[in-house]
Amino acid sequence: MKILVINCGSSSLKYQLIDSDTEAVLAKGLCERIGIDGSNIAHQPAGGEKVKEMADMPDHTAAVKLVIEKLTDPKVGVIGSLSEIDAVGHRVVHGGESFSGSVLVDEEVIKGIEACSDLAPLHNPANLIGIRSCQAIMPGVPMAVVFDTAFHQTMPEKAYLYGLPYEYYQKYKIRRYGFHGTSHDFVSKRAAEILGKDRKDLRIIVCHLGNGASVSAVAYGKSVDTSMGLTPLEGLIMGTRSGDMDPAIVSFLAQKEGLDAAQVIDICNKKSGVLGLSGGASSDFRDLVDAAKDGNALAKNALEAYAYRVGKYIGAYTAAMNGVDVIAFTAGVGENNAEVRVLIGQYIGYLGTNIDPEKNKLRGEEVILSDEGAKVVTMVVPTNEELAIARETVRLLNQ
Ligand code: ADP
Repeated sequence: MKILVINCGSSSLKYQLIDSDTEAVLAKGLCERIGIDGSNIAHQPAGGEKVKEMADMPDHTAAVKLVIEKLTDPKVGVIGSLSEIDAVGHRVVHGGESFSGSVLVDEEVIKGIEACSDLAPLHNPANLIGIRSCQAIMPGVPMAVVFDTAFHQTMPEKAYLYGLPYEYYQKYKIRRYGFHGTSHDFVSKRAAEILGKDRKDLRIIVCHLGNGASVSAVAYGKSVDTSMGLTPLEGLIMGTRSGDMDPAIVSFLAQKEGLDAAQVIDICNKKSGVLGLSGGASSDFRDLVDAAKDGNALAKNALEAYAYRVGKYIGAYTAAMNGVDVIAFTAGVGENNAEVRVLIGQYIGYLGTNIDPEKNKLRGEEVILSDEGAKVVTMVVPTNEELAIARETVRLLNQ
């Protein structure tokens, strides 16, 4: 089957057309600046050159139309017509407590996603627009939604409740949800597969270290804790997000700088993390490693603080699971940045990880970093959220 995977943001749309039989990516691309001046599309057929062009996209429906045009284009297309797309899989960020797994789209599901928009005001409405646009252009084509939060719905109450008056959980569903669930699920499954073991027999800590970053504790096949919370701001220090901090900072900073709470949270989301810590040097870890090598002390400190926080979470999740068998690194930084992995390695050696420095230099591929016989197997497992969404879509269709 040919599955179109859509990841719709407020002004962007990422897509991949995946052949679910071979799991090959037939084409992929990105529409940017939808609804803004200068909208453009970058489209790449498998084995072909990437083509980038400016194109008028006043809304997401126009973007989906353009994606279909590219996919069926005689030159850069990979299918003859729209009818070759068997199903669409959508990434949706927040499923709240209503969705503990992927589902096929119907009106009830759409209402359910709408109801969670309060919890992800930037993401869910954009995801819904993507679904609506596809429905308009591909009527009758089955669609599935895969939630970032769903995998973490197995967290026990003790992990997901905040130390706040219980009535706020009851009234507003304020609790920890966690994100990157599709990736944590995919990577923990794949890690077990690589080791020739059943995930149900392992305690796995997955470190999804990208621009956004989170750690999860996957005990015997289920997520039992994860570092992101009500929103993706909690947890690790990230590219531009602060991660954990004393909530009293919000009112303190608001008062000092003459801001309101929303403005301070905006700073915590967009100007903090390693970008903020490095004095604005960069949010990109490649730049930071280079800057640190060139003697930029703030960039070096930012990397140290970042790695230290990851190390602390690994320690915490080892405690949460009463031990750990596997630590898996994934996403842009986790897969590719050996220097950052070395820094994190300083805080996990006591577990018996025995990381081989030579193997740790590899990037972007599945590799077991630990020496044979290590007590805790440390590995790199590249994530593939699009493939996971395509697989889920096929699974739901075959049910
Ligand atoms: P997002 O959360 O936006 O999906 P990614 O998972 O792509 O982010 O991670 C982005 C980070 O990954 C950047 O800081 C970048 O430095 C790092 N990264 C991505 N690819 C590479 C690479 N090939 N080598 C080194 N670092 C990389």
